[in-house]
Amino acid sequence: MKVVILLGPPGAGKGTIAEGLKSATDYIHVSTGDMLRAAVKAGKPVGLQARSYMEKGELVPDDVIMRIVTERLEEGTPNAHYLFDGFPRTLEQARLLDEVLSAHQGRIERVFLLEVSRQVLVDRLAGRRVCRNCGAVYHIRNIPPKIPGVCDICGGELYQRPDDTEATVLNRLEVFKKQTQSLIEYYEMKGVLARVDAGQEKEKTVAAIMQILRGGIQEA
Ligand code: AMP
Repeated sequence: MKVVILLGPPGAGKGTIAEGLKSATDYIHVSTGDMLRAAVKAGKPVGLQARSYMEKGELVPDDVIMRIVTERLEEGTPNAHYLFDGFPRTLEQARLLDEVLSAHQGRIERVFLLEVSRQVLVDRLAGRRVCRNCGAVYHIRNIPPKIPGVCDICGGELYQRPDDTEATVLNRLEVFKKQTQSLIEYYEMKGVLARVDAGQEKEKTVAAIMQILRGGIQEA
């Protein structure tokens, strides 16, 4: 089992970059945020536990997150490659992930830190719109749909995530700074961290990541 992690503040484009990488690699995309939103929508117990934290922009407790991630990994084959987006988000989650990986003879290939200025982050989140039906992501200025409020792909209704409103966005950025920052040091110490400029166009960020990943494969 091999794992690549996308680490970065909300609005850094983790989901968008993961989509780009998915088409260029055989990694299975695992987004804890998407899994939690699906659980909320389906009215599952884990969704009920997570909902109030998500609406406030707080982190969902580590035990809930580890349960959904472990279940997800158990669905795959032992030698599958995973691309984690939005996980781990705390030092405790990172340590528990290490335990899960060593139990499966797995390893972390790389952790990409997506770096973006605060102004760009706030603008990206405030303008983000998501299709209620298929989950496609738009931005009112940067990636506008052909018809305002309507998904180009499936015709579904576009909405603003309840945690993308300004007050919650500012809280999520603070939460990232306080709780996720220590992960950067953790992975830096392990020698797996790579910093990538995610303020540029998506294609360029994806290409920069692919180059580092390919370099890693040649070295191995
Ligand atoms: P995201 O889509 O990654 O921005 O996640 C949306 C929300 O889901 C976050 O603001 C958290 O409330 C929750 N969440 C997602 N992933 C995690 C995680 N690894 N640890 C704790 N909470 C999470």
